Amino acid sequence: MRWSYSAGRSFRQCQRQWFFKNIVASARANQPLRRRAYLLSKLQSLSAWRGKVVDDVISKTLIPSLNRRDTVTLKTVKQKARCLFDSQLAFALRHPIDDPDLRVSREGEDFALLHGMEYGQAPTAQDVEQAWTEVEQALTNLYNMSAVREVLKSSDYVVSQRALQFELMDDVTALAFPDAIAFSPARPPLIIDWKVHAFGQNDAWLQLAIYAIALSRSKRHADFPENFCCAPKDVVLLEAQLLTGSLREHDLGDDEIIEAEEYMINSACEITSLTEGKKYAELSAEDFRVAHHAETCQRCAFRTICWEKPHAQ
Ligand code: SF4
Repeated sequence: MRWSYSAGRSFRQCQRQWFFKNIVASARANQPLRRRAYLLSKLQSLSAWRGKVVDDVISKTLIPSLNRRDTVTLKTVKQKARCLFDSQLAFALRHPIDDPDLRVSREGEDFALLHGMEYGQAPTAQDVEQAWTEVEQALTNLYNMSAVREVLKSSDYVVSQRALQFELMDDVTALAFPDAIAFSPARPPLIIDWKVHAFGQNDAWLQLAIYAIALSRSKRHADFPENFCCAPKDVVLLEAQLLTGSLREHDLGDDEIIEAEEYMINSACEITSLTEGKKYAELSAEDFRVAHHAETCQRCAFRTICWEKPHAQ
C-alpha cells in the first residue's frame, strides 16, 4: 500500500472517499466504474485549480530557468500562466468526462476538470476573473518575496514536484511530493511549500515535517548532490503563502519529528487494519465508513458514484 499525507487526511475525513480514490480509481482497468472513479479523482475546485496553475508555472517555467541561470521576468511568468489558465479553462468548460475516447495522458498540459462542472455549479465569469486575479497576485507576491528569491537564486540546483518514497512499515511505502527542494553546498537542504490560500493551514508544519523525513529516508535521486544525506532536523522548511506574501520557517525539534513519525505510522495502521492488504476485487464500498460531515460530501469528487447506492451506515 502507498501512504501519503493527503491520502491519510482523506481517510480520516471519509474512509469511503479514500477507497474510491486509492482502490477503485484506475486509468487502465476495463471496468467502467473504475475508469469513472479515475476521472472523478481528477476533479478540482476552482481554487485548487488556480493554485495548481501557479504551482505548475513555478515548477515548469521558473525553476528550470533558475537552474539554467537564466533570468525570467514576472511578465514572462504571468504570460505563461495566462496561456495555461486559458487552455485549461477551455478544456474544463467543455467537461468531456463522459467522452469514452478521453485519455488524460493524451491531453497534456490542457487537461483540467472542475468539480463545479460535474456537480452543477459551473464557474461564473466573476469566479473566473477572481481566480485569474489571484494567480497574478500569487506570482507578483512571489517575485516580491526577496528571501525566497535569494534562496532559490543562490542554490546550486532546485528540484520541483519530485516524488520521494521510502518504506514506512511492512507493505507500506510512504510518498511525498515537496513543491521545491533547493540544494547548495553552503547550507543545509531546503524544502519550500507554496500555498495559495488566503489563510494559512495550522498543520503545514506536519506536512513539511513529513517531507523532511521523506528527504532523509528516500533513496538519493540521480540529480541530488553526490553522497547526499541529511537528518530531518537539518532540513530548512519554508511555507510560502503566495496570496498574502508571507513566509514562515518551521523549526523541527526531536519532539516534532517523533510526532510526525507517529502520525504517519498511526494513519497507515488505521488504513491497513481495515484493508488488510486486500485488493479491489475483495473490497466493497460498504466496508468503508462514510463522512461524518455533510460538507465533506459537498466537496467530494466521488458523490456521483457514492450516492448511486444507499450508504451502509
Ligand atoms: S460522497 Fe460523502 S460519503 Fe461518499 S465518498 Fe464522498 S465524502 Fe464520502
